[in-house]
Amino acid sequence: MPDQLSDEMLSQRQNAEAFISEVIRPIKFEHSSHAIPDDLRDRVIAASKSYGFYYKTQPTEFGGNPASVLELTMLRELWSSANSQLTDCIFGPGPGILHSARGLLKTDYLDPVMRGEKRGAFGFTESDTAKRPTWGSIEGQSIVVSGQKSYVTGGATADFVSTLINIEDSNGSKLGTAMVVIDLNAEGVVIEREFSSMEGSGHASISFNAVSIPISNVIGEIGEGLPRALENIGNVRLMVSARATGMCIWVIDFVRRYLLAPHRTGTSLGEREGVRLRYADMRIEVYAARSALYRTARLAESEENDVNETSSTKIFCTEVAGRVVDMAVQLVGGQSLVQGHVLENAYRQVRSLRLMEGANDILRINLAKGSLDLSKGRL
Ligand SMILES: Cc1cc2nc3c(=O)[nH]c(=O)nc-3n(C[C@H](O)[C@H](O)[C@H](O)COP(=O)(O)OP(=O)(O)OC[C@H]3O[C@@H](n4cnc5c(N)ncnc54)[C@H](O)[C@@H]3O)c2cc1C
Repeated sequence: MPDQLSDEMLSQRQNAEAFISEVIRPIKFEHSSHAIPDDLRDRVIAASKSYGFYYKTQPTEFGGNPASVLELTMLRELWSSANSQLTDCIFGPGPGILHSARGLLKTDYLDPVMRGEKRGAFGFTESDTAKRPTWGSIEGQSIVVSGQKSYVTGGATADFVSTLINIEDSNGSKLGTAMVVIDLNAEGVVIEREFSSMEGSGHASISFNAVSIPISNVIGEIGEGLPRALENIGNVRLMVSARATGMCIWVIDFVRRYLLAPHRTGTSLGEREGVRLRYADMRIEVYAARSALYRTARLAESEENDVNETSSTKIFCTEVAGRVVDMAVQLVGGQSLVQGHVLENAYRQVRSLRLMEGANDILRINLAKGSLDLSKGRL
């Protein structure tokens, strides 16, 4: 195995493979831009609970049984290699940015999220047309928030949005950034636009028009907004990388079967040397991407800094996925671009990965900075 898993991890993997074949595969639900129907969602969640996967992203204090980064990476790659939207329902809700919430932030937001009663979204990306980034002025025990977040995934259906803002005191002096929780039904919150991106997820552009929130809705301290917003980003980038390599595994399997099948010309495409060269290239790239993924997952489990390595892995795995799906389309031909074809869907799925959780070129700039200016990062 390129992933060099322990016996215990291999047995988890077999259990996960059984889950895919016994629970996910028998349900007929094609990838689509529509949400998963509630009855199917409930079915997958119930099965996931009985297999124990549901609890693997949840802290023990909430009844969870959290898995290691390596195990989560392995499972996420496996879910993605099943190429079914239903796998999105397997893991239960995690605390995310609210993990250290105390007091009202815990009772009003974190606890209901963990019980599955409330859903949060994440507001980071600013609107291009806004005159200034989203800000909040302290007024007594409240913060009055104004501005616009332009790309909030699940924003139209969430209960609240954890939002990065700049904080000023009542005299307009800058106090730094903060992550704050804003209820989406609060007075002054307006969903300006709802839209979908090509891989099927739904988003909202949300404006805040002098929205008053209690100061207790600050996550952590004022001044630590950006580090708070980014504290979990390494794990999320590993998650995106695992999704990318999982898609690659699915694509390689699909292409392999296609190349071995009869072709209208009389000989299968897999017998042609030029096609074999392209297929070999796909496999080489996926092998390298998976090697990087598992090495970085192990690194993430250590106490060492892995910012540069998770960024490198995210860039590499998502770009390999782009190239692999593109070559699959080339080898399978025009039929693969017909709307509704599994590769047409895969093409749309992998494209967004190069932008989400840090546009790849921005991450490249950070990597170069890490090495040239800060002497950080390893090869
Ligand atoms: C599916 C999906 C889900 C998303 N969900 C969320 C969400 O839930 N919450 C949220 O806040 N945001 C979300 N986003 C937005 C995402 O975080 C941004 O799209 C991403 O950070 C890039 O920012 P931008 O779109 O403003 O592009 P820009 O910052 O305008 O950059 C566009 C491009 O310009 C180039 N570029 C820009 N600056 C530089 C530079 N300094 N050096 C070199 N090149 C540069 C890069 O090629 C870059 O890709 C989501 C995006 C996608 C695709």
